Amino acid sequence: MYDNLLANVPTDLWIGGKWKKASDGGRFDVIDPATEKTIASVASATVEDAKAAVDAAQAAFEGWAGRKPRERGEILRKAYEVIMRDAERFAKIITLENGKSLTDSRGEVAYAAEFFRWYAEEAVRNNGQVSMAPSSGARIFVQHRPAGIAVLVTPWNFPAAMATRKIGPALAAGCPVVLKPASDTPLTMLALMPALEEAGVPPGVVNVIPSRSSGKVVSAMLHDMRVRVVSFTGSTEVGRKLLHEAADNIVKPAMELGGNAPFLVFEDADIDAAIDGAMIAKMRNMGEACTAANRFYVHENVHDEFAKKLTAKMGGLKMGNGLDDGVALGPLVNKEGRDKVVELVDDAVAKGAKVLVGGKTPDGPGFFYPATVITNVSNDAMMLREEIFGPVASIQTFKTEAEAIQRANDTEYGLVAYLYTKDLSRGLRVSEKLDFGMIGLNRGIVSDPAAPFGGTKQSGLGREGAQEGMKEFLETQYVSMTW
Ligand code: NAP
Repeated sequence: MYDNLLANVPTDLWIGGKWKKASDGGRFDVIDPATEKTIASVASATVEDAKAAVDAAQAAFEGWAGRKPRERGEILRKAYEVIMRDAERFAKIITLENGKSLTDSRGEVAYAAEFFRWYAEEAVRNNGQVSMAPSSGARIFVQHRPAGIAVLVTPWNFPAAMATRKIGPALAAGCPVVLKPASDTPLTMLALMPALEEAGVPPGVVNVIPSRSSGKVVSAMLHDMRVRVVSFTGSTEVGRKLLHEAADNIVKPAMELGGNAPFLVFEDADIDAAIDGAMIAKMRNMGEACTAANRFYVHENVHDEFAKKLTAKMGGLKMGNGLDDGVALGPLVNKEGRDKVVELVDDAVAKGAKVLVGGKTPDGPGFFYPATVITNVSNDAMMLREEIFGPVASIQTFKTEAEAIQRANDTEYGLVAYLYTKDLSRGLRVSEKLDFGMIGLNRGIVSDPAAPFGGTKQSGLGREGAQEGMKEFLETQYVSMTW
C-alpha cells in the first residue's frame, strides 16, 4: 500500500530546483500514525544546507521579483490546477503521514490549492497610492515592494494548507521562500515541489528543507541578513522563541500560534444547526486544529438537549485507518499528542467531570483516541486552559450573556470564537465583545483564503489570507516627489 502511494514522493532536500542529500548525510524516519510503521526516510537539513537554500533563494530573488505580476499570477494559477488534477494523490499522502481521514485530507488539498488561485488573482492588485502633502505640496508616491527572502516554518496538522497559505502570498508579492515543514509530516511539501516546477515556478524561488534540527537550522536563517521575513505557524511557545530570534536582525514576523476556542450556544440557538457546527468546529482534523472548539459553553436551559445530540453524533463516528472507506476519525499524529489528550481527560474526570461517550484509549497499534464528550467539567480542569488538540468536547453551562462573554474571554489566547443564536443583534453584540481575531457566527468553520485569518493576544501577530496576507511579504516604499 505504502509503496504504491509513496513510489514517486521525493525524500531529499529541494534546494535551487534540485534534489540534494543533507550535507552530513543525515536522515530521519516518517511514521504512519495509524500503524506506527516507518513509511519513509527523509534527508535532515543541516545549518550548511539552510545556508545553501538561502543562497538559492537569493540567486532567484531579482528574477522572480522582476517578473511581471501577471506572469507570477499565471504560474500560481497553474499551480492551483496541477494540484487539483492530482488532488487524490496529495490527499492520500497527507493521510499517510498525518493520520486524518481521507475526507479531511481531500478538504485540506482543496483549501491548500485555493491559496494559489486566490493569490494568482491578488498578484496583479498590489496597488500603491499617490497624494499631495498638505503643507509642502510635494507628491507622496507610495508603492509596495517584495520584502525579501522569507523563511516559512509550518506545523504537522495541515501539512499542505499551512504551507500554501504562506507560499501563495509570498510568491504573489515577489518573494522567494525557504520552507521548513514539520518533522512529523515532511512528505506532503516534498511531493508538492514537482507540481510547482511543472507550474513554472523557477529554481530557487521555493526551497524545502525538512530537518530534525529545527531550532539550529531556523535560527541560522534568521541570523542571515538576507532573510527579511519569518512566517511561522505552530505553538505559542516556539513562536515566542522565534520572535526573540527575529529581533536580532529585525526580521519582519508573521505568527499564527495556538488557540483555545470557545463555542457558545445561546438559549435561542437552532440546536441542530449548533450540533452541525460543533461537529465541524470540534472534529475537523480530529480536533487537531488551532481553530478547534476547545470549550463548549451552553445555556443551562438547552444543555441537556445539546449534550444528548452531540453525544449521539460523536458516538456514531467510525474510527480507523484514515485511508479506509467511511472512516471519519483517524489516529492522532503521534504518541505525545495522544498522551496529552489522555492526561487532559483523566485530569478533568479526577476533578468531577462525567464522560458521556468515549474517554478510553483503544489497544494499538496506532495513536487512536475515540470521539469523546464530557460534561460537568470543573473550572480548574486543565483542558479549559490548554489546547486539547484531540477529539474531546468539554461542556460547561452558563446562565447569562455577560457570563458567557466573560468566560469565553478568560484565556490568554484570541484566535477564534464560535457562537450560535437566532438573534442577529445578540450575535453581533456578543461578537464585538469577544476578544478574538475571528468569529464564527452560526458557523463552525471560519477558514477561507479570501478572509484574514489570525488571532489576538498569545494567538499571534499578522494575518494570512485575503489582501492582508500579501502585506506580510511586502515593504512600503514612499517617494517624495516634486517637479
Ligand atoms: P510546534 O511544535 O510549534 O512546531 C511547529 C514548527 O516549528 C515545526 O516545523 C517544528 O519543527 C518547528 N520548530 C519546533 N521547535 C522549533 C525551534 N526551536 N525553532 C524553530 N522551529 C521550531 O507546533 P506543532 O506541534 O507542530 O503544531 C501545533 C501548534 O500549531 C498548535 O499550538 C496549534 O494551535 C498551532 N497552529 C496554529 C495555527 C494558526 O493558524 N494559528 C494553525 C495550525 C496550527 P519540528 O517538527 O521539527 O519540531
